[in-house]
Amino acid sequence: MSTQKIPIRCMFCDTDSFKEGNCQKCRKNLLPSRPTKEKLKDFAIAFGIFFLIAAIAGIMSHYGLGRYRISHPSSWEQSIIISICGFVFILLPIAFWIAFGKDSKSDKFHRRAKRHLPNFPERALLDFTKAAEEAKNLDKHFDILKEKIRLLEKLGQKKKWQDCLHSFLNTINQKIQIKGSKADISLFLKRAQIHERLENIQEALSDYERIVTIKNVWNATKLEIEVINDAKNHIKKLQKKSI
Ligand SMILES: [Zn+2]
Repeated sequence: MSTQKIPIRCMFCDTDSFKEGNCQKCRKNLLPSRPTKEKLKDFAIAFGIFFLIAAIAGIMSHYGLGRYRISHPSSWEQSIIISICGFVFILLPIAFWIAFGKDSKSDKFHRRAKRHLPNFPERALLDFTKAAEEAKNLDKHFDILKEKIRLLEKLGQKKKWQDCLHSFLNTINQKIQIKGSKADISLFLKRAQIHERLENIQEALSDYERIVTIKNVWNATKLEIEVINDAKNHIKKLQKKSI
């Protein structure tokens, strides 16, 4: 199907348009930012979490914690109020920024792709592609790609999802080559997952094994330890397959 024949559904009036830009009926943007209602909800959630942190910090600072104890206020209510005021002043702008910060182009396409999934999978595919292209970093790109591949699989387009993975594999290989010995665990993990998906068992195995061995070189964080343990499980599974 040519791109011009794949509709874009307006999220405001449900009219289908065939060109990017504004809706032909209500003239609103076909690639909008998050609705204000959603932003307000995010703000309320962020604020609520910060408020809770502040209250807990207030209680903790009143009932000891050594040098963090607030010495002046006499009652625990005062401690909590001081803590909440302090936290709210510092964290309010952060909550505001989280909720009302500008949407990236990638976010907009990603959101629209998900909206198109049930009715216009072809449009969802185009939007996923755009969202991945515009993604700020490799992690985000990879996450969006996974969604796109799931959709291609559902549509039975095996050759297309394999091509997709091959092209991302090239990107990763280039990154690993540029970074040389400084290439990090997440790059090898992505490559291992792609090889596994493409059923290149030996390649996947070698990348998972590499992840396990670099553990000794680096001070592994909790997340890295999880990755390493996961890699070990994959190695066991793949070794069984390759026998
Ligand atoms: Zn419209």
